[in-house]
Formats: sequence, C-alpha cells, structure tokens
Amino acid sequence: MEYLNERVSYLRGLADGLGIDDSTKEGKIILAILDTLEDFADAINELEASHSELDDYVGEIDEDLSEIENQIYGDEDYDDEDDDYDYDYDDDDEDEDEDEDYEGYVEVECPNCHMLMSVEEELLEDEDAELVCPHCNETIKVKDLKIVDDDED
Ligand SMILES: [Zn+2]
Repeated sequence: MEYLNERVSYLRGLADGLGIDDSTKEGKIILAILDTLEDFADAINELEASHSELDDYVGEIDEDLSEIENQIYGDEDYDDEDDDYDYDYDDDDEDEDEDEDYEGYVEVECPNCHMLMSVEEELLEDEDAELVCPHCNETIKVKDLKIVDDDED
C-alpha cells in the first residue's frame, strides 16, 4: 500500500506548487486534510504489515496442525492423495471405515459402575467368561453385562 503515501505526497507537492499555505482559511483546511491523509496512509501501512505477519503465523499454525492431524489419525489417507483420493472418499467408504473399527465389538454397560465399554462380541458368547471393567476395575461376569443397543435409533 506504499502507493497511498505516494499519492498523498503528490497532493502535497501539488498544494505546494499551487502556492497553497495557511494564510487563508481554505489553505489551512487543505493542509490539515493532507496531514490527516498522511496519518491514514501510515496507519494502513502498519495495519497491512501486521496483518501479513499474522497471516504468515496462521499459515505456520495450519501446517503444524496438519502435521499433528497426520500423527493422530495416521497419514494413509493423505499419502495417496494424488492417486486415488477421490476413490477413497467415494460412496459409503467412510461408513465402512467406521464399521471396521467396531467390527466384532459390542457396547456394554458395567453392572457395577454403569459405565460403557466395548467388548469383543465373541467374549459375550461365553457365559462363564469374566472381564475386568476398565472404569471400576471390578471383575464382571459376562452374563451380567447389559448390552447397549444404540444402533437402532
Ligand atoms: Zn465398572
């Protein structure tokens, strides 16, 4: 925005050339306006500089965040971005991914502390099996577990 300063300088030169000084009322106000314009130009330049600094900073944060996201969620979805990115996100693939995580697992409620946990479906088939609740550390008989059926809504 350096051109703002250039334009104000041009106006100041013009006023000078036309012999405008503060000996008249009009001259006074014109010179005061030029001073104000100069302040505006300076303020906008400063604002622009700090905005661009902020912009760079946000860009860096964004990059760091992507890196962290890759570390947390794994970067397999990002690796093949160029090749079959579209293919990966076609139709119901996302749902399949979700199912994979919970495949063979059932959400159950601990009869002791009533917290929810995921247990292997196979385990539930064995009535004599026992497991330790991760929330209250109580040993629970599988047949006492309450199966939570929240898929039906
Ligand atoms: Zn429990």
